[in-house]
Amino acid sequence: MGSYARELEVALAAVREASKVCRSVQATITPDALEKKDKSPVTVADFASQALVCRALQDAFADDPVIGEEDAAALRGDDGAAFRGRVFAELQPFGVASEDEALAFIDRGGAQAYSERFWTLDPIDGTKGFLRGDQYAVALALVVDGELTVAALACPNLPSPDLAGADQGSVLWAVRGEGAFHAPLDGTGAAAARVSTESVIANTRLCESVESGHSSHSHSAQLMERLGISAEPVRLDSQTKYGVVARGDAEAYLRLPTRPGYREKIWDHGAGALIVQEAGGTVTDVAGKPLDFTRGRELSKNRGVIVTHGPFHETILETLAALGVK
Ligand code: AMP
Ligand code: MG
Repeated sequence: MGSYARELEVALAAVREASKVCRSVQATITPDALEKKDKSPVTVADFASQALVCRALQDAFADDPVIGEEDAAALRGDDGAAFRGRVFAELQPFGVASEDEALAFIDRGGAQAYSERFWTLDPIDGTKGFLRGDQYAVALALVVDGELTVAALACPNLPSPDLAGADQGSVLWAVRGEGAFHAPLDGTGAAAARVSTESVIANTRLCESVESGHSSHSHSAQLMERLGISAEPVRLDSQTKYGVVARGDAEAYLRLPTRPGYREKIWDHGAGALIVQEAGGTVTDVAGKPLDFTRGRELSKNRGVIVTHGPFHETILETLAALGVK
């Protein structure tokens, strides 16, 4: 057993448990709710997922801070009563005893500042995908001395076709220096995750955000044209894109800045980045710099994110620079 075996075990169990609550809420989304643009299911699932992961971390590693996406402020007071009740109703089957207990778990994810050892959590990454009934992820990473060290990424709607008995739902994980693995979300067994071995740049399979506000679709189209890539990019929500590159199902995931002021959030990248690196891939920002997880909640020293299986990384960075992407 490696030195982070316990952290990995707890993290995997936590994202698997959180996936259950996410799936149960996602199953309640009706076409009618979608039509009305009712975002409340993702709000409920977001808080419930954060509560379950933070409970697991509190039980196992009571001193570890958690930089999570949510805090419970919106659930407090009279204004929060309706949501509070819905979140608690989802959590009761998991043994959460009271609304106050639920709020306390959620607030455990409220750390803001960098520290020597902390977790970062996106309880539901890809909220738009979640609402559409599409891809989303529960993403958890441990950062030690500024280095991504343990990652667990549950992708409840990402098939794992090469693993027996799993037509829906994958989980991927990694520990620094020990490789990356994937398994069916609900099953047993695991396989090594390795990036693609593609060596012809024109054959690159790209993935990017569904939302053009999160990654510039026009710059990726220009890049593809310059590199002679003809396959349409695959658009997926959430860090499932990192999972797809880690498993060798795509060669690149591009996140190209859409506006000057935006800074990427650490919980959108920590888990996925370690998994791709441990699967043999390369992760930098658009300038070629490593992602810097020592800055608190944001990757304030980085712009955009470029994730590849390796051999084309420099060419992609150079081409983006030539296109003026920064
Ligand atoms: P994705 O599903 O890959 O499109 O990414 C979802 C994440 O995009 C959310 O968790 C947000 O934190 C993040 N996000 C929100 N606005 C932006 C933006 N302008 N550029 C990049 N990412 C963003
Ligand atoms: Mg997110």
